[in-house]
Amino acid sequence: MFNEIINEIVCSSDLIEMAEHLNKFINLSPSKKDINKLNVEINRALFPETLSGIFDGSSKAYIIYERCSTASFLNSLWIRRKSAIQNIKELETIITIIQQNYTKSQGARISEDSVKQIMNYVNIEYNFYDILKGEALHILLFENSHLTVNSECVPKIMDNGDVNCALFIYHLKDECHCSPEHVFLHELGHVLQIKITGDSRKVPPSFLPFAKEAFPDIAKEIEPEVFADCFAMAVMYNSQFSVYDPFDLIAPTHKMLFQIYIQELARSNKIFQ
Ligand SMILES: [Zn+2]
Repeated sequence: MFNEIINEIVCSSDLIEMAEHLNKFINLSPSKKDINKLNVEINRALFPETLSGIFDGSSKAYIIYERCSTASFLNSLWIRRKSAIQNIKELETIITIIQQNYTKSQGARISEDSVKQIMNYVNIEYNFYDILKGEALHILLFENSHLTVNSECVPKIMDNGDVNCALFIYHLKDECHCSPEHVFLHELGHVLQIKITGDSRKVPPSFLPFAKEAFPDIAKEIEPEVFADCFAMAVMYNSQFSVYDPFDLIAPTHKMLFQIYIQELARSNKIFQ
């Protein structure tokens, strides 16, 4: 019985369906052994994805979870506890998060091929794989839409103090008129920002003089959002991705300045200090 439900949890590609299977699992009062089995099967399901980029050299820089995005979601949110009761509580929290924040897919979502194309491009032009410092960026492509956002950059502080990021990429919300490619580039901007500052609320100090040229009155709390947009604009400007640029009101001279700045910043050794 448990084997069948665990299989359904691990294999579902839709977060809402996974939450339903998790609910069934919890209602059967799983023992510590059953919960361990779920943990083992999640890791087994994710293993092929961690190997998938090994032959083209991308695996150390990033790992894309598409078919297994739900298992990866569960893996990253589940704080493992000692007792069965505590683990059941953790899983219940995850079910609530899914039920309160996710819906069936609404708009478009970036494809795995487009992600690979963009990652390859930002690596060539902006040394992006070096920015990741050899820690794989986890990119989760979901089959669902989120109720309030199109994507998220989720930072995680590691034991050695480094900050790693996971990107949660959803189907666009119905009312969104931007392109999935622009949304993805915006999130890569957050990755750069967090890798440099170690803090999702901070931007590199060198950014503000540049940004104030184009945006004289930036409120402190939206500085990271402006940085991520400027990164996206910098990458899209005068490139094969310019068709995805929604910032028609920003002067091309400003976009060019952002591009020079981001290039300098990304190539700068300061990132590694
Ligand atoms: Zn953002």
